[in-house]
Amino acid sequence: MRHYSAFAVAREGLRYHSGWERAWRSPEPKSRYDVVIVGAGGHGLATAYYLGKNYGITNVAVIEKGWLGGGNTGRNTTIIRSNYLQDPSAAIYEKARGLYEDLSQELNYNVMFSPRGVMMLAQTQHEIRGYQRTAHANNLQGVATEFINPQRVKDLVPIINLDGPRYPVLGALWQPRGGTARHDAVAWGYARACSNMGMDIIQQCEVNGVRTHEGRVVGVDTTKGPIDCEKIGMVVAGNASVLSEMAGFRLPMESVALQALVSEPIKPCMDVVVMANTVHGYMSQSDKGEMVIGGGTDAFNNYTQRGSFHHIEETVRALVETFPMVSRLKMLRQWGGIVDVTGDRSPIISSTPVQNCFVNCGWGTGGFKSIPGSGWAMAQLMATGHSSLAEEFSVNRFKEGKFIDESVAAGVAH
Ligand SMILES: Cc1cc2nc3c(=O)[nH]c(=O)nc-3n(C[C@H](O)[C@H](O)[C@H](O)COP(=O)(O)OP(=O)(O)OC[C@H]3O[C@@H](n4cnc5c(N)ncnc54)[C@H](O)[C@@H]3O)c2cc1C
Repeated sequence: MRHYSAFAVAREGLRYHSGWERAWRSPEPKSRYDVVIVGAGGHGLATAYYLGKNYGITNVAVIEKGWLGGGNTGRNTTIIRSNYLQDPSAAIYEKARGLYEDLSQELNYNVMFSPRGVMMLAQTQHEIRGYQRTAHANNLQGVATEFINPQRVKDLVPIINLDGPRYPVLGALWQPRGGTARHDAVAWGYARACSNMGMDIIQQCEVNGVRTHEGRVVGVDTTKGPIDCEKIGMVVAGNASVLSEMAGFRLPMESVALQALVSEPIKPCMDVVVMANTVHGYMSQSDKGEMVIGGGTDAFNNYTQRGSFHHIEETVRALVETFPMVSRLKMLRQWGGIVDVTGDRSPIISSTPVQNCFVNCGWGTGGFKSIPGSGWAMAQLMATGHSSLAEEFSVNRFKEGKFIDESVAAGVAH
């Protein structure tokens, strides 16, 4: 793999960029691999990467029905934070946030991690108490957050209106090292590193069957033919229940669309990420200048990856109270992704009733931020059968009643 550097860019500039090679290979599938990862989103690719890097397992195929990063990984609003309430959540999200800090150097690929700070506004007395509680919990967990007063909010976000007609801003939970990253680049960076380790990333290839023998996984059927394998990792977000059904078990998960939209690009006006969970809208400004805006999930189960007009109206109406300037912006485009939501709003990283078949899903509306940590834990689980980071996220928690209830910690979990 050619090393990317300022020197390489300058050299290519002098020869009309004729010397760049493809970032990853696009091979035809082999008949057998040690490990097949289904889904080339961020979590699938990160799992493959850490299997290779941490455990030397490189006879791996990552199989993707569309194009890599074309699922939720390339459709999200890129918020990265680790200010969760429950200990297992804080541990895995903070692991991920820590890995994001030098992911660009590690992958030799600029993922544009921007730790600009994430703020979750408290707009009711209930939210003040909730966020103060989270700040205390984070303190104990070693996650750097603090509860800040309205004046500090205004200093950090001058365009905010503290005295909204319905919900004034009463304070905020502030994580200074939270932020954003370029979502496609995270997928592309991992893909390039996986390909460099000799792994095969096979796009435009749908898995349409999981083959088992005596309760153990032996391969998958795909639109490019059957592939034998020792182990499978199902990492397909909103399609997890479809895949698990192919393997013969059910997951406690629902699939719904989550939508987002961006405005026309404007001059820099906000250099932190703001989440207003009571009115339900969140916003940051991209490097291009667009205001990136997200809201809540659709209220019904579906598999559409499209936006809808009522959502623009609902989300923008909510944000205008806190950010009056939004009323003067033209919205440029909107889209949707199929997110995988569990009852306690926490992910599943787990072995399954089928031996050597592992599942990683349930990241719902907030799994971009966890990609490196999730891949790290999933790779450990698949390679060794155990992962301390993933232990509490086993699917068995739904049988045992050991929920990791993040729905109380964050009314919204992006
Ligand atoms: C609008 C929106 C905003 C969001 N905002 C944030 C945010 O700000 N911060 C945050 O942390 N998270 C956010 N999220 C959530 C985040 O995007 C997801 O949790 C995360 O990207 C999930 O990654 P993944 O790799 O598990 O899934 P995906 O990226 O969806 O990848 C799964 C892949 O599996 C493939 N696949 C499915 N079925 C098959 C099959 N049968 N065979 C082969 N391949 C298959 C799909 O094509 C897909 O590419 C948001 C999501 C959306 C939709």
